[in-house]
Amino acid sequence: MSSSETIRNIYLSLYKTYGGRNWWPAIDAFEVIVGAVLTQNTNWKNVEKAISNLKNAKVMEPLKLYELPLESLAELIRPAGYYNIKAKRLKNLLEWMVKEYGGSIEGIAKLPDWQLRQELLAVKGIGPETADSIMLYAFNRLIFVVDAYTARIFGRHMLIDEYADYHQIQELIQSSIEPDINVYNEFHALIVELGKSHCKPRPKCSGCPLEHLPRQLDITS
Ligand code: SF4
Repeated sequence: MSSSETIRNIYLSLYKTYGGRNWWPAIDAFEVIVGAVLTQNTNWKNVEKAISNLKNAKVMEPLKLYELPLESLAELIRPAGYYNIKAKRLKNLLEWMVKEYGGSIEGIAKLPDWQLRQELLAVKGIGPETADSIMLYAFNRLIFVVDAYTARIFGRHMLIDEYADYHQIQELIQSSIEPDINVYNEFHALIVELGKSHCKPRPKCSGCPLEHLPRQLDITS
């Protein structure tokens, strides 16, 4: 099987096992944006608690959140962990939204793909994974989100080498699967599910949906 065939096989095997994940779990684009910053290095349950705090405080809008003092914002998002750092990152992102687009999601949605990505990446603290999560899940742009699970799983199945960077992995996947927003949306979510359930630091290959595929010989299961 070529790399592209293996990647398509991974997608189909995961979809068959887990079904559609229907991401992103948010009610609107702004909630996706906030969630994409809060979810770094934590699980989704903690993000939900932080977002719930923001909603209860009635500040879940770009302008209101931007005007909130940094310390108050940090306190509200405390359940998401690393709350001081995340509060600063969120503030930086909100500053871009408010100063450049008057806090209008509709205004940002009009940007072409290249410009949206360039501007997101120019915000301090926003890296490719967060930028692409916002691109795909908040603004329905055709871009694949690579995360640590993707690198681990693809590495263990010898699709990438240990030096592959974010954009090399992204390019490999985008050139292998159907250029369809729904497929990109589901594939990333399915990889996260696989990483959480089987492909942990110590992999559980027995019973894994990808058990049938060739993998490194030296990983302990
Ligand atoms: S747990 Fe094993 S079989 Fe499953 S994805 Fe990871 S390396 Fe592959």
